[in-house]
Amino acid sequence: MIRTLKLKGFKSFADETEIRFTDGINCIVGPNGCGKSNVVDALKWVVGVTSAKGMRADTIKDVIFKGSEGRRPARSAEVSILIEQDDLFSGGSGLTEVRRRINSKGESEFLINGRKVRLKDVHQLFTSLGLGNRDYAFLEQGQIDRILRMRPSERKVLIDEAAGITAFKEKREETLRE
Ligand code: ATP
Ligand code: MG
Repeated sequence: MIRTLKLKGFKSFADETEIRFTDGINCIVGPNGCGKSNVVDALKWVVGVTSAKGMRADTIKDVIFKGSEGRRPARSAEVSILIEQDDLFSGGSGLTEVRRRINSKGESEFLINGRKVRLKDVHQLFTSLGLGNRDYAFLEQGQIDRILRMRPSERKVLIDEAAGITAFKEKREETLRE
């Protein structure tokens, strides 16, 4: 469960902005161009989408706020996400923070709970949560159609990912390769 998403210098979000999510379905509404899709881009970015295209941008540096009338461009962009997970063993819940930063050179880094990690670690974390950086974790306009037209085998990939089974499959394949 995603609790909060914080953006700073990311796309149109020049100032630090915190978005809080509640249980159930959350909706983002607003006029055209106000930054709704940019919020979704921020989510994709922090879970590890690496392509500029995936961010609807020409280059990876385009995610940094590029300035506006009376506002200087930002030197870096940062997005962090706070995830609450139920702990099956303790019965309680734990919080995990994932943060991604990019500087003006286009160098980006990931941190999990304040510790620098590799993209691979972030990928593993989100895959185990059923929120891998795959196409189907984020359904955009027109993609529902694509899912409805999928073959059952293709649709199973999607269900495996949502159920968190993909993480185990990937670990198994990795072990078999080693
Ligand atoms: P719609 O309802 O039309 O889908 P939206 O609310 O989804 O609109 P977004 O696509 O999220 O809107 O935001 C578009 C705005 O974000 C544009 O005004 C664009 O100039 C701005 N934007 C995108 N990247 C940057 C950036 N790097 N720096 C500053 N502004 C940016
Ligand atoms: Mg939009």
